[in-house]
Amino acid sequence: MHDVIIIGAGPAGLSAALWCDELGLDTLVLEQRAETGGQLLWVYNRIANHLGVIEAENGRALRDLFAAQAEGSEFDLWTGVKIAGVDLGARRVRLQSGEELQAISIIVATGVRRRRLSVPGEAELAGRGVVESATRDRDLLAGHDVCVVGGGDAAVENALLLAEVCPTVTVVHRGQSLRARSEFVERLRGQHCITLFTESELMRIIGGAEVEAVEIRRRGAIKPFQMAVRGVVIRIGVEPDTELFREQVCTDERGYIKVTNEQETSVENVFAIGDVSNPLAPTISGAVGAGATAAKVIAARLNSGTH
Ligand code: NDP
Repeated sequence: MHDVIIIGAGPAGLSAALWCDELGLDTLVLEQRAETGGQLLWVYNRIANHLGVIEAENGRALRDLFAAQAEGSEFDLWTGVKIAGVDLGARRVRLQSGEELQAISIIVATGVRRRRLSVPGEAELAGRGVVESATRDRDLLAGHDVCVVGGGDAAVENALLLAEVCPTVTVVHRGQSLRARSEFVERLRGQHCITLFTESELMRIIGGAEVEAVEIRRRGAIKPFQMAVRGVVIRIGVEPDTELFREQVCTDERGYIKVTNEQETSVENVFAIGDVSNPLAPTISGAVGAGATAAKVIAARLNSGTH
């Protein structure tokens, strides 16, 4: 029996673990990936707005600082752990290995993951022209015609980065107008090599060893058309990683877990922190703060015997 099991070792989970350890709680952190860091592992931009860190070159660099700090703590951290099921009411976690774990409190810190288009070619050509980030993969795509899917800040920022090195960039957006902030949209309109297809869908990514073309359908058009490209960047937002819990806690209509101001979910002694419960202002700083809040609430309840 652990005092706390934390599911997820991104900034929120690591922060909660540090605080739980400091407050003397027996804490086990379960992370499905081989390494800690969560979404920080796919932030390729410089981070200069996390208090106490003047500048981190990218998410991984900030993650390394967090991990180094965690190494000085005594909480248990299991990485590469596959969870088969969770019974939140009983606060029991069953691993795919068959092992059963039990805790007084559970903290869900599973974060969000990139939304997929789920079109043919997306998974098959991943890493072979279908890339995650223009910041990371710009050199690979330089000199080639590319397509960016999405209409938010991420899609437009990626299109602008690619416009610096690619002959043509086609942005495919399902909506009537871009949702990205006006500063990005103005810059996009000033770029002659960027073509914007609104009310359009990417239907298929075509290729063999590498991406060769995309198939696009414009609303109202009778037939889709194909366009030769060598790169595709899909940036259509994120969705919460809540499959394990969805039937057991209250969520909003998009699946984000609802919490009180103590970070507690609709299930007693089950907490949710970080982006999985924060659709409005998902930030690293917010995740770290929520981790501290949950840990302090749990420690106070254990100390007063009210858990
Ligand atoms: P957003 O949720 O802001 O935008 C997602 C876009 O993808 C929307 O335009 C949406 O269309 C579209 N979309 C969603 N689902 C589908 C689908 N199934 N098929 C086709 N299109 C789809 O996500 P982002 O990733 O752009 O940004 C996430 C967060 O990160 C935001 O808060 C953003 O501000 C922030 N961010 C900030 C940056 C910066 O400040 N430099 C850079 C990158 C991100 P529709 O509009 O029709 O719903």
